Amino acid sequence: MDKITLILSDIIWVMFLTFLFLFFIFSLIEKEFKALKRAGIFFIISVFIFLIKIKTGFLTSDILTIVIFSLFMFLSFAYKRKSLPIKIIFSKERFDERDIVFSRSDYKPGTREYEEYYKMHPEKEEFDKRLRELPDVCEGGSLFEKLHSPICISEFQLLERLLPCVDGKVSDKKIKVQPEKITDKIKGLAKYLGADLVGICKLDERYFYSHVGRGPEKWGKEIKLKHKYGIVFAVQMKYEMVSNAPFTPTVIETGKRYLECAFIGIVIANYIRNLGYSARAHIAGSNYQAILPPLAYLAGLGELGRIGILVTEDYGPRVRLGLVTTDMSLVPDKPKNFGVQDFCNFCKKCALNCPSGAIPAGDKKIIRGVEKWQMEPEKCYHLWRKMGTDCAICVYSCPYSKENNFFHLLIRKYSKLSGFSRRICFIGDDLFYGKRPRKKIYPEWMKT
Ligand code: SF4
Ligand code: SF4
Repeated sequence: MDKITLILSDIIWVMFLTFLFLFFIFSLIEKEFKALKRAGIFFIISVFIFLIKIKTGFLTSDILTIVIFSLFMFLSFAYKRKSLPIKIIFSKERFDERDIVFSRSDYKPGTREYEEYYKMHPEKEEFDKRLRELPDVCEGGSLFEKLHSPICISEFQLLERLLPCVDGKVSDKKIKVQPEKITDKIKGLAKYLGADLVGICKLDERYFYSHVGRGPEKWGKEIKLKHKYGIVFAVQMKYEMVSNAPFTPTVIETGKRYLECAFIGIVIANYIRNLGYSARAHIAGSNYQAILPPLAYLAGLGELGRIGILVTEDYGPRVRLGLVTTDMSLVPDKPKNFGVQDFCNFCKKCALNCPSGAIPAGDKKIIRGVEKWQMEPEKCYHLWRKMGTDCAICVYSCPYSKENNFFHLLIRKYSKLSGFSRRICFIGDDLFYGKRPRKKIYPEWMKT
């Protein structure tokens, strides 16, 4: 009996040490030096205790090790806590694209848009005037870099040139397709073109803007939902770039991923129109008609987090989204809940790290029928204009944003198990990465 206890206890210790060693190695690869240092210290102390245990049996009790491990496993696996699905109640209320802060910052005094808008919303005029006095993102600001900021401008200039490609003529020759087969084909095509995640949802009018506020379409025109299905996809942003938030690598990465989303969306929409069905790509650069995060949730790509954007299972909020809407019959996916709503309840790391105070640290509210944390885009965008980048500190701070490698996949899987496992992951994240994770290590090509 004593021998079995001893062997079991040794196995637990070896597993624990292997875990710490793996963490150390992956932190080194990711250049997460704070985590590397702390994992190293933990590893050395643990090895020391283990060696003393083997030699003398002093400091640890085998029975105690087994009891603690068993309790840990029991709480992780058996103590299931609901992953808290997002509450959605009936609502017909829609959001007006003319109200979003990006649209408002474009209204020039003396134009029809300006006069009409501030007649409807005089309370917003003063704030927007102050906003327009600041340089545009990447054109100035405290973090402007004269060699790097123009890269982002170049990306967005290309995006603007793609705007006329989002819609077009539908072929007269309609090809008959089976919903199951064409759904699989389109998902495969999206992945082939570069999407990391793809799902299908049935469209819900409430997630479409009520009126056009930006882009080439007529300002103020009512947006009517003419399609039934949405193909929602996500491309991951490179961790190396996002971990430099709020400096220029992150905004360059944003531009690159928006371009990729535009490429994927435009090709898929074109393809569907060539098969004889109506389709439209919704791309960045002022041409969305829909609010993408709730559609991405419905398509099973992730959950809505405190951060105010989609949190995916594999990449956290470190993604950019794209959408194609169509009248072609497709097979919708189901929303997935993997514990983000529960995690966000106690985590609050994005709120704590947000320099503008745009992310709420309090409870969720019902907004247009969806129970969610409502961030304040005005505060966020004002800071973007002051800094000259798109900040993204919240994205990098989110524990779900970590690199998508073997080690973090293991942690992600573990965090899905129960409320207890999510709390353990949160404590571990705080312990090793700190409450305010920061790092500035530019990729080689940006150092020269
Ligand atoms: S991007 Fe920056 S300012 Fe905006 S919500 Fe995130 S942390 Fe806050
Ligand atoms: S940082 Fe924490 S609270 Fe914010 S979205 Fe990520 S998990 Fe949720």
